[in-house]
Amino acid sequence: MGHDELDRVRVSAGTASVLGLSPITSFDEPTCAYVMIGERCAHDCAFCAQARSSAAPNDRLSRVTWPEFPADDLAQALGAAAGDGRVQRACAQVVGAPGAFERSIAAVKLLRSAVGPSVPVSVSYSATARIEQVAALMEAGAEKVALPIDACNEQLYRSIKGGHDMSRALSLIRECARRFPERISTHLIAGLGETEEEIISLASSMYQQGVTVGLFAFTPLPGTRLAQRQPPDLNSYRRIQLVCYLLKRVFLDKAAEGPPDLRFSLGRLSGIALRRPAEETAGLSGEAFQTSGCPGCNRPYYNERPGQIPYNYPRPLTPSEVDDALTMALDGVELDRVGLAQTESANIERRSAR
Ligand code: SF4
Repeated sequence: MGHDELDRVRVSAGTASVLGLSPITSFDEPTCAYVMIGERCAHDCAFCAQARSSAAPNDRLSRVTWPEFPADDLAQALGAAAGDGRVQRACAQVVGAPGAFERSIAAVKLLRSAVGPSVPVSVSYSATARIEQVAALMEAGAEKVALPIDACNEQLYRSIKGGHDMSRALSLIRECARRFPERISTHLIAGLGETEEEIISLASSMYQQGVTVGLFAFTPLPGTRLAQRQPPDLNSYRRIQLVCYLLKRVFLDKAAEGPPDLRFSLGRLSGIALRRPAEETAGLSGEAFQTSGCPGCNRPYYNERPGQIPYNYPRPLTPSEVDDALTMALDGVELDRVGLAQTESANIERRSAR
């Protein structure tokens, strides 16, 4: 088949289940097929199971396990799953091992040829990439290339991402976003020690550049440098999700006239003033609390255990989940726009009285 560098490929356990490669079924299945390229990274991100100094097993990335399959079996199963609508996207998540770039190109080509024309391919590469490498990944068939920032302020970036420079990553993204409009994504992790204001302003700047943002909640993993750190407070994560969603609607989806005015107190979101209450109210649906990132990507169990309230819902929320999530997001946050404040708080009161 000509995928020389890729005889065998690791796929996420959920992907293996959706593709019929493994008999294990999970409650929330991925809508995107995830493959992991390379293992044991040359970089040393403090949160990552594949980091140079991590003692976590080789088949881990985030909370997910990644069993290995022959590339040809994967291609066949993926083709069938894409053909009958079981997957809406395929994503190669690249671990920065030696030869990562060549393997990524081979992986993108493998996914691209397997899924057929109607299913897009993403690749999550490294923000230390060169712009020609990003171009080559697109040339090989990636619709979107993710350049993960992960840590949301300079100091955290340096200490958590193994000494790398945040401004270099930001200029790479700026340049790529300009050269490849709407085709660049990034990942931001909440709960590494940044303030809500820092992560929200970084997300806002990404949206303004046309960059898609996948929001993650920090997840402590055994064997990593941050194994002892607590995951973020759920109310705080809900505030970040809500505001990122509102900003995304304005800047990426061009759904409203102007961005919401945000107020922060000591870095925590304390107030939102909305310009177009009716539309924004409509936007305050459960979508804000679903997994964000490339369309069709739902990443079940990356950040959460089965049975736990998810940080990112991998599916549409039920009405009572929407109520709960909104109540958490708006706890201690002033809403200045009369229309929205009245409508939404009336809705919340009505729902909680049920
Ligand atoms: S948002 Fe999802 S599909 Fe896009 S690069 Fe990240 S993990 Fe892959």
